[in-house]
Amino acid sequence: MSSSISTTDSNSYRRCLERGVKCKCRILAPCWEAWKNGTHDPGRRFYGCSRYKDPHLRCNLFQWAEPQYTEIGREVIEDLRMKLSVKCDELLYLSDDLSLAEKEVSSFKEKLSVAEMKNKETVELLNC
Ligand SMILES: [Zn+2]
Repeated sequence: MSSSISTTDSNSYRRCLERGVKCKCRILAPCWEAWKNGTHDPGRRFYGCSRYKDPHLRCNLFQWAEPQYTEIGREVIEDLRMKLSVKCDELLYLSDDLSLAEKEVSSFKEKLSVAEMKNKETVELLNC
C-alpha cells in the first residue's frame, strides 16, 4: 500500500507504507516510490537507506522492491498520469470558477440584505 498520489510531488520520491529492509546501518531502509521525472518505471518501489547522503556512513543500500514493468504496464501508467494531469488542470479552472461564484453570491447576499432593510422600513412606514 502506498501514499496517495498528487501531482505536486510528481518529481520526487515518495515514501511507501511498506515495511523496509534492514541495511548495514542496522536500521530499516524505507520503501520508496520512484516518481522522479525521467524514471523508466514511474512509481516502481525500491528500498533505499535514509542515510545515503551521510558521507561518513556511506550507506548506499538500493534494492528494487519489484521487477521492472512490462511495456503495457508503462503505457497504462503514462496514460493514467496524463489523464490525471488533465484532471488537475480542470480542477484548477473549476476552483477559479468557484471562487468567482462565491464572490457573486456574497455580493448578492449584501444586496439582498439592503433590499430587506428597505422593505422593512417601507412596511413600517405603511403601518403608521
Ligand atoms: Zn543504511
